[in-house]
Amino acid sequence: MVRAVQIRQHGGPEELQLVDVPVGEPGPGEVRIRHRAIGLNFIDVYHRTGLYPLSMPAGIGMEAAGVIEAVGEGVTHLQPGDRAAYASNPPGSYAEARVMPAMCVCRLPDAIDFETGAAMMLKGLTAQYLLKKTLPVEGLQPGDHVLFHAAAGGVGLIACQWARALGLELIATAGSQAKCELALANGAAHAINYREEDFAARVQEITGGRGVKVVYDSVGKDTWEPSLRCLRPFGLMASFGNASGPVPPFAPAQLGALGSLYVTRQTLFTHIRTREATQAMADQLFEVVASGQVKIHIAQRYPLAEVQQAHRDLEARKTTGSTILTLD
Ligand code: NDP
Repeated sequence: MVRAVQIRQHGGPEELQLVDVPVGEPGPGEVRIRHRAIGLNFIDVYHRTGLYPLSMPAGIGMEAAGVIEAVGEGVTHLQPGDRAAYASNPPGSYAEARVMPAMCVCRLPDAIDFETGAAMMLKGLTAQYLLKKTLPVEGLQPGDHVLFHAAAGGVGLIACQWARALGLELIATAGSQAKCELALANGAAHAINYREEDFAARVQEITGGRGVKVVYDSVGKDTWEPSLRCLRPFGLMASFGNASGPVPPFAPAQLGALGSLYVTRQTLFTHIRTREATQAMADQLFEVVASGQVKIHIAQRYPLAEVQQAHRDLEARKTTGSTILTLD
């Protein structure tokens, strides 16, 4: 038996309950991993509340790092004793150990410790696909302006640093002055406190009226409409989250009127649906982290038993960078 967090129904943080669950042997294509640290992500909130529904009872959590204990038939890229980390579907990483599909689990390079591994896989692979795989055709070029909302968060701080490494002019938004300063210290070229300033007007000012090539928007409801007004002609609205609520319905003709805009709504799990794609993306992430170009900021740590408080703080916008759940 291992300790694991489960929900029996969708709802508030109080639904997150620590229970004892059996952990069996891995079947074909599976591994059993003993976690050393667990990553917290905003998607865990969507799973808990039911914005992204789960069948009950449900495990929660999609990111962790640890040691492989056993491998099932057909698994060749991992062996017992390997250090490993993952971003995974289905949820269930808030646990001391679990059996899970091996496909999304990668060996963790020796240079990366367990806490860093747990804090960076889901967030870092997301930053990777957003900056390098989302824009069709020509991609992003050094000097391009992009707008990145919630830039002092988990995905955000990684994206700021990676964008700087790619030579992009990233305009950050964040919900306080201190968060803006954090984004600037991590590679953002400009930062806007979107709780106080009209960010669309500031973006036009910063770009000399040209607008940005891409808006990366994980905030959703509150930022959607003004974000469209930040784009240059043929610019891309890359929606990838709903921290403030789902994006409202919109008329496609509005995209034409605002400059023949593109809209995409992507999810990491489409990008990592094969073992080869997952490993190729993870290799790039490991490289930028091991080289020091991207530092993973673990700004909050909570014991697994305090997971309810961790969710409260994440939803209340009290966190910056990455948050991990620790195991004793
Ligand atoms: P963050 O650490 O970025 O936390 C979310 C942040 O969103 C908050 O800190 C807050 O920053 C901002 N925010 C704005 N409005 C609200 C609101 N009403 N309530 C709560 N927060 C708000 O989380 P993650 O790094 O885990 O994830 C960032 C986003 O990316 C999430 O929306 C997540 O769902 C999405 N995501 C999407 C993926 C995909 O593939 N589609 C994969 C991974 C993440 P501030 O105070 O600065 O506004």
